[in-house]
Amino acid sequence: MTGDRPLLHEAGDEGRIAGYNATHGETARFRRKTPLFINFCDPNICAVGLRWNQLDPETTAVGQIRFAPVGRALIMGKNRGVLRVYADKASGRLLGSEMIGPKGEHLAHLLCWCIERNLTVGDLLRMPFYHPVIEEALQAALYDLYAKVDTKNEGGLIELARLPE
Ligand SMILES: Cc1cc2nc3c(=O)[nH]c(=O)nc-3n(C[C@H](O)[C@H](O)[C@H](O)COP(=O)(O)OP(=O)(O)OC[C@H]3O[C@@H](n4cnc5c(N)ncnc54)[C@H](O)[C@@H]3O)c2cc1C
Repeated sequence: MTGDRPLLHEAGDEGRIAGYNATHGETARFRRKTPLFINFCDPNICAVGLRWNQLDPETTAVGQIRFAPVGRALIMGKNRGVLRVYADKASGRLLGSEMIGPKGEHLAHLLCWCIERNLTVGDLLRMPFYHPVIEEALQAALYDLYAKVDTKNEGGLIELARLPE
């Protein structure tokens, strides 16, 4: 570990890179994974991908939801916090997210994997969302974000892909 990303999974990747280069007689470079930070306080504080201060306000769209009215958070008695999702305004591609809220560690993983796959906000809204789960908070933030990006889903419905005639 270099101290640059002082996290266990990053240290593991750095060990693999160092081991590979030490045994292959070359200095290969590897693309690092999407940054993921989780603070295990209650509620969780999490950050994924680009942070607020790294965003270009000209080219970025921001979606937000507060946890106050979210059904599952209410049931758990933990309906406090806020979730923000960031996307490239033109393409709708997800760039990052920051949140303080219940079960944030799971939402952060979900979003991190979506960013790794280069998914857009429209792609995410075509995923199934069960009820009543905390992921519905993410769904609401995604709808807020979707309204602010230029690239929309084709076929007439946001949530469903159209079948061929
Ligand atoms: C309190 C605390 C909480 C943390 N919480 C998290 C968290 O929630 N999530 C997360 O992802 N990361 C967390 N981390 C960071 C994470 O533990 C480190 O990023 C990770 O352990 C670094 O792995 P490493 O292999 O580089 O070093 P280490 O895990 O420190 O391993 C280095 C090993 O080398 C040994 N060693 C040192 N010098 C020598 C020597 N001269 N000869 C032989 N052996 C030697 C040490 O004894 C040690 O076993 C936390 C760290 C701390 C301290």
